Amino acid sequence: MYGALLKGCGQRPVIKMIELPILGQNFAATITEGPILGIDLGTTHSLVAVLQHGAPRVLLDQDGDPLIPSVVSYPVDGPPVVGKAALARAGFDPTRTIFSSKRLIGRSMEDLRDEMATLPYALVEAEDREMALIDLGDRKITPQEVCGRILRACRDLAAVQLKMAPEMLTRAVITVPAYFDDAQRQATRRAAKLAGLEVLRMVSEPTAAALAYGLDKSGSSRVAVYDLGGGTFDLSILELQGDVFRVLATSGDTHLGGDDFDRAILINCAAEIQQQSGVDVLADPGARAALRLIAERTKKALSSAEEADFVYHDAELGIAYRRTIDWRAFQGWIAPLVQRTLDGCSMALQDAGLTPPDIHEVVLVGGSTRVPLVKAAVSQFFGRPCHDELNPDTVVALGAAIQAGVLGGQVQNALLLDVTPLSLGIATAEGTVSKLILRNATIPAQAKEGFTTFVDGQTAVKFTILQGERELAKDCRELGEFVLRGIPPMPAGLPKIGVRFHLDADGVLHVRAKEERSGVSAEITVKPKHGLTDEEVETMLADAWENAESDLVTRQVADLHGQLGNVRRAVEKHLDIARQHLEAHALERLEDAFEDANQASCLNEPGPLKGILDELETAAHPLAEALMNHVAREAVRDRFVSDLIDE
Ligand code: ADP
Ligand code: MG
Repeated sequence: MYGALLKGCGQRPVIKMIELPILGQNFAATITEGPILGIDLGTTHSLVAVLQHGAPRVLLDQDGDPLIPSVVSYPVDGPPVVGKAALARAGFDPTRTIFSSKRLIGRSMEDLRDEMATLPYALVEAEDREMALIDLGDRKITPQEVCGRILRACRDLAAVQLKMAPEMLTRAVITVPAYFDDAQRQATRRAAKLAGLEVLRMVSEPTAAALAYGLDKSGSSRVAVYDLGGGTFDLSILELQGDVFRVLATSGDTHLGGDDFDRAILINCAAEIQQQSGVDVLADPGARAALRLIAERTKKALSSAEEADFVYHDAELGIAYRRTIDWRAFQGWIAPLVQRTLDGCSMALQDAGLTPPDIHEVVLVGGSTRVPLVKAAVSQFFGRPCHDELNPDTVVALGAAIQAGVLGGQVQNALLLDVTPLSLGIATAEGTVSKLILRNATIPAQAKEGFTTFVDGQTAVKFTILQGERELAKDCRELGEFVLRGIPPMPAGLPKIGVRFHLDADGVLHVRAKEERSGVSAEITVKPKHGLTDEEVETMLADAWENAESDLVTRQVADLHGQLGNVRRAVEKHLDIARQHLEAHALERLEDAFEDANQASCLNEPGPLKGILDELETAAHPLAEALMNHVAREAVRDRFVSDLIDE
């Protein structure tokens, strides 16, 4: 058994220390390499942009189109196809045409349970049961392989447009939703690697959008970036301080976007088709994929017209269906979804301690913000018109290119900071959590805290890294653990163990523990087994609120038991000295208090425990004095001896 940890007594040394990296120096580009690509890896579409002559430029395909559909199709007899060619195969090869792979990346089957019913292709669990795989029938592929092919297509498009060999384009800035957790970010990084790209930086999408709008040049103000894409919703609240973006708070939902609007149309029309023809079209993967595309087309038409036709003919199934959808009906179907995004806005504002009037500018990002109801609802929520001057499809890619320019040394004085969605900390001996990096801390972040040992002669300490908002270790999510060995045997409380958390720019956590007297150290880089879904993040936050009061009591009780244990052990160790040196009444008081402390283990209310602790501490004062005199006498005696030797 490894000994447990005790939080250092007295003041916490450094609670949080945020270091701002100086970008543009470490990553200065050399002339032999091509530009760093800025890639918006979207659920629905991906784009690639570069910085040219100081301005970001989205690269277009041979048709002059910036959007690469994030779709990969795997024909039975031939190499995979990506983008438009893959999208064209969705209708007739639905089980081998993979869209929305970004929704799957870094996630387990458990996370994807709700998703599966509406996907025309099959998912299976990987052998290690951590990640979901896509089952093509004859073989299984990983979501990051699919994303890797999309990123490869971005790289190839850039090579053609820039007239460069693809080998020269090896570095990229990739944007991800702000709510992507460690597992999702790491899986994205692996996808890039499969595409031959090194990710120099991951930037959250809303933060990139703010850069594209040049809001870093607009002076000090607060900006909300509302990004509703095909599959994800993100809200970030940024504060612009000079050239520096600070993310005050983020909120989001990795399962909310235009796909859900499509699904609302799809489900309503499919129900009517079933009523009219008796055919369950959703049970047929080919029909479902075709209906999905029709639903999307109808939705887009409703962004600029009052009504649109949903037309579906299928001779084989005997279906001839036509329905005119009026924008009011569509608004009714999607209103609850739009409301969910507004709830996310409220949550982020609350986290930042702000109200809508505190926001000076609102930026709309993502294709789904073209829906009139969305625009109107967001403007109404914030009480001001929203920025929609730039094409909502390309702003994120433009921002990624600007960030790439920052890393390449072409753009100075711009700095992006992201935040961590949940607090990070360490389990203590008392079963509580010592939080080192707090929720919504800007990253990269560093924090240090001092710990010591719990029992005499303890030579190894186990560290458990936790993520979550609850006060007790058992209620938080365990990210990993490691053991610091080789501590020289010392009395409990003497070793000085410094624990340093470093949360890097990509949200990966590096933890290092060092015993300062002996210099022994150990470290860990946390690669979570699989990440938290945003629902889990929300549940954990909600739990933390709900249980805040009872958690606090439990934590106080645990802390008091810990403190009482320390004092009790110290007294026990020196009872002999007490019996020799204390006056009778002082000794009696100490022995009584000690006896009460021994009986206290069953107490679970802070009040009585605190009383017993206070009494024991007070009763131990004469003992402490006696001990000091004792130590001083020894020291003086040693001193005489050494003085004699010197002479
Ligand atoms: P992502 O970043 O998730 O890939 P995008 O920002 O590219 O998403 O947005 C794609 C979504 O925007 C899709 O759901 C698409 O149907 C929707 N969209 C695009 N144009 C329109 C439009 N004119 N009206 C409504 N929705 C649109
Ligand atoms: Mg997007």
